[in-house]
Amino acid sequence: MTFPHRKEAFTEIYPGIFRTTLPIPGRRPGPVNVYLFQGEINVLVDTGAKHTVHLLKKAFRDLGFDIKTLNQIIATHGHLDHYGAARHLIRCTGGHATLAAHPEDVHAIRTGREVPLGTYKDYFSAMGVPVVLRFLMMPLMFLGKFLADPCRVDLLLNDGDKIRLGNYDATVLSTPGHTRGSVCIYLETEKILLAGDHIIEHITPNAFVMLEKNRFLPQRLSQSEYYASLEKIEALSPELVLTAHGQPVTDIKKIISGYRESFEKRKEKLLGIINGDKKTVYRIARELFPELGGKRFSLDLFLAISETYTHLQVLEREGKIAMEMKQQKLRVENACAA
Ligand SMILES: [Zn+2]
Repeated sequence: MTFPHRKEAFTEIYPGIFRTTLPIPGRRPGPVNVYLFQGEINVLVDTGAKHTVHLLKKAFRDLGFDIKTLNQIIATHGHLDHYGAARHLIRCTGGHATLAAHPEDVHAIRTGREVPLGTYKDYFSAMGVPVVLRFLMMPLMFLGKFLADPCRVDLLLNDGDKIRLGNYDATVLSTPGHTRGSVCIYLETEKILLAGDHIIEHITPNAFVMLEKNRFLPQRLSQSEYYASLEKIEALSPELVLTAHGQPVTDIKKIISGYRESFEKRKEKLLGIINGDKKTVYRIARELFPELGGKRFSLDLFLAISETYTHLQVLEREGKIAMEMKQQKLRVENACAA
C-alpha cells in the first residue's frame, strides 16, 4: 500500500475498492472514510459532508474517475457526514445516479433532521437540561444546514438485499443501533464488511437515542438494538472491516469483546452515580462525563445525555433502576429505593 501525497487522495485498499478520508468538524470520531467501488457498477459508499464536496471531486479527478460515470451512492445511515454531499454529487452526474438507504433513515436524509425541533425540546426538558442550556442548544440544531443538503432517496436497502458494488456481490445487513436505519454491507466471498459507524476501532460505540415524533421519551432501546446487531456481525466473522471513521479492523473479536466490556463497566458506573439518590438524566450525564463542564451546550453534551439515557434504558429493563416522569422531568433512582 502506498501513501497518498494528499490526505484526501483516493487509495486503492483492495482491488477496485478505493478509500478517501474527508475532514468533518469536531475531534471525534474524526475524519470520515468514503469508499468508491469501481467496476461494472460504480458505487460510492457514504459521501462526507457538504462542505468537503470540492475535496471529494478533486480526489475523483486525481484518480481519473469521471463523476458522470457514478451509478449509485449508498448512505450507510442518515447522519450528515454520510449523506451530506449526495445531492450535489447526483447533480454532477446529470441526475442519473441514485441514492440508496435503509427505509428507517430516509426521513432524516430527506429532511435533514430526524424529528421536528419540538421533539428535541421536549426530550431535553425530560432529561432535565436547564432552560438556559436548552435555549443555547438551538443554534446547534441548525448546524445541519451547513453540513448536509437534504436529498431524495431513490432506492431502499432492506436486510438481506443482494446488491452489486463495482465488480463485487454484496448483501445488505440491517444493523440498527447507531441509528435506527444503519446498514452494513457485506461482501461474502471476500469476507469484507463495510460497517459504517457501527464499528469504529478507536472509540466505544455510539448508539444514539432514537427520538420519536409526538413522543416525549424515546421507547426503542438503542443500546440493546446495537448489541443485537453486533451479534449478527460477529456471526459472520468478517476478516476485514472497513469503517466509516479511523483505520480498518482486522481483529473483529477483540473489538467486540472490548465493546461488551466497556458497556458493562459503564452500566456499573451509572449505578454508582445514582447511588440511592433521585437524579435527572442531565445531572447523571454531568457526573458520568465531568470533563464536559462549562455552561455551553455543546455537541459533546448532547452526546453525553444520549449516551447516559440509552444506558439507563437498559438498566431499567434489567430491573436495576426505576425512572419516573414528574412535572415533565424524568427522575432516576435505584430500583431498591423505588
Ligand atoms: Zn453516524
